[in-house]
Amino acid sequence: MVESLRPKGIEDRAVLQAMGKVKRHLFVDEALQPQAYSDNALPIGYGQTISKPSRVAGMTVALQVGPGMRVLEIGTGSGYQAAVLAEMGARVFTVERIKPLYLSALERMVRLRYFQVKVKLSDGTMGWPEKGPFDRILVTAGGPDIPAPLLNQLDESGIMIIPVGRKKREQGLTRIRKQEGKWYRQNLGRASFVDLVGSHGWKTEQPKTG
Ligand code: SAH
Repeated sequence: MVESLRPKGIEDRAVLQAMGKVKRHLFVDEALQPQAYSDNALPIGYGQTISKPSRVAGMTVALQVGPGMRVLEIGTGSGYQAAVLAEMGARVFTVERIKPLYLSALERMVRLRYFQVKVKLSDGTMGWPEKGPFDRILVTAGGPDIPAPLLNQLDESGIMIIPVGRKKREQGLTRIRKQEGKWYRQNLGRASFVDLVGSHGWKTEQPKTG
């Protein structure tokens, strides 16, 4: 799988190495395991998906994660992205709003011995104020705006990667860098993430189609 990422422009050795260490088939249902190493998003239940590997790789590269960094992830889902961040040496704080997904990610992190990953059940658009500020923030669901609490929990010289779009399932992947108390914003291209639902996100979830 990692070899297939190189032709897609993913050259960051640390990211490729980290992704090589995480067994993606352990993050999906047994029936989907044969597809776990192809470059596709996969359903994880409750209308949610685990992003395709090239997307996970691209976001991890853009985040510029280094060992020992405190990283906040919003949208734990399966825990796959959190595991990749942990393999990069980060201390990961990840928030999920759907209880069964939270519970299974928690169980998976313990089973796979990712003790440097802390998982919380709550509305991630509020961030995780008790654990902040964070060197990096990664949001893996798309909302209409950048949640103010997340901006406030980003440390000086911090980087946040977040999909933002006024239409559901159509976002611009956005990079925010905080420098001398100011925020600088850059668009990294189009993306299609599931809804970020919460007090600083969409108020309701997209009804499931198909
Ligand atoms: N990063 C995950 C995939 C995320 S899918 C992985 O590697 O598997 C997006 C996730 O964001 C879903 O699980 C969804 O429930 C969650 N989510 C949406 N809005 C949220 C919010 N306000 N707070 C926390 N999680 C949220």
